[in-house]
Amino acid sequence: MKQLLLTLMAMALFATTNSQELATPLEKNKFAKPTTYNQLSDFVHELDSSSGIMRSEIIGQSVEGRNLYALKFSTGEFGADNSKTRVLILAQQHGNEQSGKEGALLLASRLIRPENSYLFEKIDLTIIPQVNPDGSEVNKRRNAHDMDLNRNHLILTEPETKALHRFFEQYLFEVTMDVHEYSPFGDDWKKYGYRKNAAVTLGVNTNVNIADDIRKFSNEEAAPFILKYISDKGYSSFVYCPGGPPGVDYIRHSTFDINDGRQSFGILNTVSFIQEGMNGEDTYIENLQKRCDSQAAGMMALLEFIYVNGEKIRQLVTDGRKTLLNAKPGKNVSVQAGHFSDGRKLSLPLVSCSTKTDTMVEVADYRPVVKSTYDVERPLGYLIAKNNTELMDWLRVQTINFKDYQPSKHPKIERYFIRDTDSIDFERDMIINPIVETSPAEPVTPSDYVFIPIGQLKSNLIAQALEPKSMLGLITYKQFAHLIKTGTYYPVLRVIK
Ligand SMILES: [Zn+2]
Repeated sequence: MKQLLLTLMAMALFATTNSQELATPLEKNKFAKPTTYNQLSDFVHELDSSSGIMRSEIIGQSVEGRNLYALKFSTGEFGADNSKTRVLILAQQHGNEQSGKEGALLLASRLIRPENSYLFEKIDLTIIPQVNPDGSEVNKRRNAHDMDLNRNHLILTEPETKALHRFFEQYLFEVTMDVHEYSPFGDDWKKYGYRKNAAVTLGVNTNVNIADDIRKFSNEEAAPFILKYISDKGYSSFVYCPGGPPGVDYIRHSTFDINDGRQSFGILNTVSFIQEGMNGEDTYIENLQKRCDSQAAGMMALLEFIYVNGEKIRQLVTDGRKTLLNAKPGKNVSVQAGHFSDGRKLSLPLVSCSTKTDTMVEVADYRPVVKSTYDVERPLGYLIAKNNTELMDWLRVQTINFKDYQPSKHPKIERYFIRDTDSIDFERDMIINPIVETSPAEPVTPSDYVFIPIGQLKSNLIAQALEPKSMLGLITYKQFAHLIKTGTYYPVLRVIK
């Protein structure tokens, strides 16, 4: 009798827990319209008060003053237990990509269920469901300053990206996933007659300066696991491969730029991903249930993968970051690169735009491999004049380590003379390629300069940002373009001894 009573009580408790399961705002409105900012704020508070495992935090505000929420899942003090893998999932940097946010909220509502709590034995997870609330409210890609946040992670001029990086640096997450949407409905594909059709695509780190073993592990182990998991849930999945259509232009494995939400973290030797769900064809609310659920499946796949592989991931990241902290002068860093074939052919699943039947296309011009085309030797450090306020401001906003310059006994300093400027193709954009000559610099007045040592977490970022021939450098942004003037010396100096 007592046993029966206990069972009944347990069942009642289970029923209460179940009835407390939270429906997301999108589920409540039957997938008819995306979650507004106010609904999202309310839902975050609901999650917070109904879960012992999740705590919300406001990490900053958007241009128009909306809160940026971080949902932190941990069984203890977040980030304090080094035997757990620290994971950051961020969504909706692009305000018109609603399914990332919806998928992130759906995932959060599932993660507070008791049956998923096992994940947090091994993972401390933060979800930032909406990086761009201002854009989301008006369903626009950019933020209220009309800036593309996902091209802003190097110059960090926007409050949203600044808040995101301050938050990242607080915990130095070992894994990140940046969630987006892609649109396969462009005119060039319509003209071609077929288009891509994967519900979810996944991209890994491609910048060649990121540790080889991190890129290899992501490509060969993480991506196949996640893509299969998504397919097993009934959603088509494929490698993130922009470019094309076949026969018109080559197909590549995304970009290698470090100004986005994937490789700005990747360049710190973080295991970093981009996931893209499919946008709606005619309206942005089309198929929202499927789009939201497939995005959530990809995020869940990432957590399941980490649950099993956490130890290996932490080792890769620890080793990779140690290499950056101990980076020595002389070792090369790539500042120009391109996409190349490795002989593989790509079978690309497409769908006919007219008949909607699936087809497989063999892509002849497939370039999955990024290779360096121009390296520079890492210096001991860089020198920047203290009166160069915009570069000094950039050092601060990027939280780069620097100190007053104290030269060694016989310092050797190099500078670049800008002989001329040329241009170079960067993923079908023509960008500036200065013609430079290196020469020994005159001795400088040490008190006028700061010294940026090359051995630090941002070692690779610093070199790629400051080298004048870098395809990804500061000078490729209009704010810094004036640093390159033909017939003058480039203002950043290299200390080589
Ligand atoms: Zn996007």
